[in-house]
Amino acid sequence: MMDINEFIMGNEVAIRLSFFLGVFAVMAIWEFVAPRRALSISKVLRWTNNLGLVFINSIILRLLFPAAAVGMAAFTGEQGWGLMNYYDVSPIIAVIVSVVVMDFIIYLQHVMVHAIPVLWRLHRVHHADPDFDVTTGARFHPLEIILSMLIKLATIILLGPPLIAVVIFEVMLNATAMFNHSNIRLNPVVDQWLRLLLVTPDMHRVHHSVEDDETNSNFGSNLPWWDRLFGTYRAQPRGGHDKMIIGIHTYNDPKQVSWLHGMLWLPFIGKINSYAINRRSWHSDSDNNE
Ligand SMILES: [Zn+2]
Ligand SMILES: [Zn+2]
Repeated sequence: MMDINEFIMGNEVAIRLSFFLGVFAVMAIWEFVAPRRALSISKVLRWTNNLGLVFINSIILRLLFPAAAVGMAAFTGEQGWGLMNYYDVSPIIAVIVSVVVMDFIIYLQHVMVHAIPVLWRLHRVHHADPDFDVTTGARFHPLEIILSMLIKLATIILLGPPLIAVVIFEVMLNATAMFNHSNIRLNPVVDQWLRLLLVTPDMHRVHHSVEDDETNSNFGSNLPWWDRLFGTYRAQPRGGHDKMIIGIHTYNDPKQVSWLHGMLWLPFIGKINSYAINRRSWHSDSDNNE
């Protein structure tokens, strides 16, 4: 295991970057060849702004957390911290359990950012995207990226996952985020079987609906089981995938939802309302519980 760990520590950025670029290229070509829906704004505008946000986030993460998640996993390993280090778990079991537990934590975190009004302000930058494609998968406000990293580091301290599990999880999360946000047409039968194991684009697209009951479903990132287990699973959007409206009802000014400066500012506009899970109101002020 020692050699693997040294290799991971020495090549962490290269491993993650090559998987990111590889999967991104595959999904981008697939979207071009077999698109699911027509985009509402030009791809050039979408990609420049969404990827601009991704670029800013990478720099911020590098500056704030230079050792990143694998650094924390190495540290907890040395210190003997966390469940997997405390108990003598076999390496294979430790990797499987760690990846599944980390995915579950991400599911809970996703439910939380929808339920808590201030956190929804950050997460709505992801949802305000009026279209759904491979770049939506990485479009998050820098403050939400920092929050995610803090939750991930706390999880690693308590769990003590093997280094390889952290790398597998990060690469997998990144790859599936691009896959399940991609604007691709998958055969319905393939989709049906695939979503027993993995969140598919059709499954996650439901979560990007403007309808509140649809957006508050399908929170899963990698594994689709949490939604089925906790009652947040919804198979298809009411209006169908071609007609469903993607985004947030109250935010549709291109300057706010499609341009980089607008996205960065989006969490700070509008008064604090009572949005919590299944209680989002957009009709008028009288509908709010304020
Ligand atoms: Zn969400
Ligand atoms: Zn999403």
